[in-house]
Amino acid sequence: VTFADLGLVPSLVERLESLEYSQPTPIQSHTIPHVLEGRDIVGGANTGSGKTAAFALPILQKIYQQDTSPNRRGNFVSHLILVPTRELASQVAYNIKSYSYHLRDKIKTVAVFGGVSVNPQMLALRGGSDVIVATPGRLLDLVSSNAIKLDQVKTLVLDEADRMLSLGFTDELNKILALLPEKKQTLLFSATFPEKVTSLAKDLLHDPVEVQL
Ligand code: AMP
Repeated sequence: VTFADLGLVPSLVERLESLEYSQPTPIQSHTIPHVLEGRDIVGGANTGSGKTAAFALPILQKIYQQDTSPNRRGNFVSHLILVPTRELASQVAYNIKSYSYHLRDKIKTVAVFGGVSVNPQMLALRGGSDVIVATPGRLLDLVSSNAIKLDQVKTLVLDEADRMLSLGFTDELNKILALLPEKKQTLLFSATFPEKVTSLAKDLLHDPVEVQL
């Protein structure tokens, strides 16, 4: 199987070739076609499995294929990726920027996380974003100060959902979920599936494709 077989457009396939991704990992080949179809996903995936590209590439393709020029405005965000730690936020945003390097003008990705000054993040968010990669607490702070508006979110990704819940982000997560539109595509990835994660998945996902490798 090649990335092109999964339904990715030539410009992304070429970018992956230049990054020397010679073929999709199992989580990528089982996830990407379903995300492109618009399905919800629950994925069992560890760090190192290639899960970041599994959710990021189809999101980038959706942005890229919008026939209108960038749909960014106000402080809205279209695609929201929630992660448990600032290290993961930086890493995921770095990867997305790398995958969309050749689409720079078309795709704006911003990482927001706590433990650093909020001002540069606020500045980066002005004019809206295509993709925000966020830790829950800082995201809520930025929502309260109107630097981010969540009511146009089309795709929600919960990355490392088990760590997010075990790190005590349940309240923040519930507050964020309550602010999102009902109609959206949701992708949940977790290394383990304790009861908290399965019940979150059950509440949140609509008829999900289960990818358990
Ligand atoms: P992740 O599990 O998303 O943290 O990815 C683990 C590492 O594998 C990252 O350094 C990625 O850049 C790399 N990677 C992801 N997918 C592929 C692929 N298909 N081929 C080669 N490397 C990959």
